[in-house]
Amino acid sequence: MRIDIATLFPEMCETVLHTSVLGRGIKNGCIEIYTHNIRDYTLDKHNNVDDKPYGGGTGMVMQAQPIYDCVTAIKAFHSVAPRVIYLSPQGETLTQSKVRELAAEEGLILLCGHYEGVDNRVLEELNVEEISVGDYVLTGGELPALIIADAVARLQEGVLPNEDAYSIESHYAGLLEYPQYSRPEIWRGRAVPPVLLTGDHKKVAEWQKNAALEVTRIKRRDMYEQYLLDHIEEIVLEEEKRRKKRRRKQRKQDE
Ligand code: SAM
Repeated sequence: MRIDIATLFPEMCETVLHTSVLGRGIKNGCIEIYTHNIRDYTLDKHNNVDDKPYGGGTGMVMQAQPIYDCVTAIKAFHSVAPRVIYLSPQGETLTQSKVRELAAEEGLILLCGHYEGVDNRVLEELNVEEISVGDYVLTGGELPALIIADAVARLQEGVLPNEDAYSIESHYAGLLEYPQYSRPEIWRGRAVPPVLLTGDHKKVAEWQKNAALEVTRIKRRDMYEQYLLDHIEEIVLEEEKRRKKRRRKQRKQDE
């Protein structure tokens, strides 16, 4: 997969893209991510990329032409038409299911606005899709673009050690993740749940599933209720199995 970030501040992105898991993923060829400076596409001799808004108001607006030329030039690097995403507080809010959808694409162009935003005509001309990282306003689209790049990259084969590394994490399957613990076994009088030290994979998996349900119930009631609705048949079957097991045990004790 290839991601291109069109920005006025590529240096803001470069460090993040070349650090830790994301940096390794790029280095190992699991994903390609490039940054492009929109300023390189100005036709103006002073390399201006913004101007005052028509109708007045504070701040500057990024002009249409350099953005259009930059995105058009990037498209030529893609053999399959990439999705063009404008990072915007007015867009659809990013969720893990959106991330999964984007991760299945062959190519994405992430367009970062700055200042007061961009001339609306270029958004129409490029037929962009708008994505927001939340209902708050940032100074630019660079951090949101990196959020998308990071979330999408970690779902590409080879970026994480295996599928478990992301499939059991919060949001992937509609639940939050169970609590995690590491050494030492006791820290400031707090012990790790004993079942995690048993080495009994079945019991550990059962504990993790129940803990994930409980954490979600406490922290995200909305997600918990949705999960119950989506998994009602599975939950009823599991409960039925548990009831049968209890009855069998009881019968054995009575004999
Ligand atoms: N004037 C714009 C408005 O009120 O909708 C906000 C412009 S904002 C100060 C500058 C740029 O930051 C935007 O063009 C966008 O690219 C980016 N941005 C700000 N908040 C964002 C968010 N929540 N999600 C995604 N991008 C955001």
